[in-house]
Amino acid sequence: MSGGALAYLRRVHDAFRGLDDGVVATYIPELGKADPDGFSIVVATVEGDVFEVGNAAQRFTIQSISKPFMFGAALEAHGREEVGRRVGVEPSGDAFNSILLDEKSNRPYNPMVNAGAIATTAMLPGATRPERGKAMLELFRRYAGHSLTVDAAVYASESTTGHRNRAISYLMLNFGMVPDRIEEILELYFAQCSTLVSCRDLAIMGACLANDGVNPVTGERAIRQDYVRDLLSVMYTCGLYDFSGEWAYHVGLPAKSGVAGGLLAVVPGRMAIAVFSPRLDARGNSVRGIAVCRRMAEDLGLHVFDRGTPAAIGRLMQFFR
Ligand code: GLN
Repeated sequence: MSGGALAYLRRVHDAFRGLDDGVVATYIPELGKADPDGFSIVVATVEGDVFEVGNAAQRFTIQSISKPFMFGAALEAHGREEVGRRVGVEPSGDAFNSILLDEKSNRPYNPMVNAGAIATTAMLPGATRPERGKAMLELFRRYAGHSLTVDAAVYASESTTGHRNRAISYLMLNFGMVPDRIEEILELYFAQCSTLVSCRDLAIMGACLANDGVNPVTGERAIRQDYVRDLLSVMYTCGLYDFSGEWAYHVGLPAKSGVAGGLLAVVPGRMAIAVFSPRLDARGNSVRGIAVCRRMAEDLGLHVFDRGTPAAIGRLMQFFR
């Protein structure tokens, strides 16, 4: 089985390694130091098999791909109703760092854009800042299967230049959307974004969502089964910001991107695909990440509304041959 999958991934990697559109994010100065040519693809299946091409162990910051996992933690701590009062599930159709809030319902639009993610981070349980920091790393540990750490330089860079995120947070405070401990919530938000992962880690984190919430490598449950669909739903409709509609149409998989160049797509019941390539398009999504997922979705019939057709099943069988 591994022969077919690996050979296929190598072909996809070869096909897109020359694609050098896009630029590395520089608005967080420390991210500007990333090697623009770094490129890896990892597939982790619900059986716990992992197929990787490129430097799959190279670490980068998870950035916004932390958002669905933190949304899951909020759901587990407070339940769907309470979380739903504080953050919506409506695509904003706007940029990830948009200052737009849904003033009618007095909530940020969804947990995948910065405003909603900051409101979600504020819901992480714990009595003190250190306790909440520990809860965050413990959450990521269950998904990745080993302990993750925060990149101190990126964290400092996020914190000293995060004026826009501060502005969003204070505006939410003004509307009573978040509790009155903004600097502490932001610290935790910057720390979650600055958590280091490899492309392999990301694929395994995604495979937990493909596998009804259980880490397929360690066997440990990462999230309650009944909340997996909540995460996948908002990833499907909001995961790529103002490119979410195009993505849902052409690729058709729940996914989340991050400005360090990570992109994670989940094929429910089957596998997760993680791509790392730091060159971003104007919306802050990895150019090669989108190209790889689009190609794989077409080749393997992975679009959620394509699954089950005989042609799609045939192509997927070839992948795992
Ligand atoms: N840390 C980044 C920010 O808050 C995360 C954004 C992203 O990955 N899209 O601006």
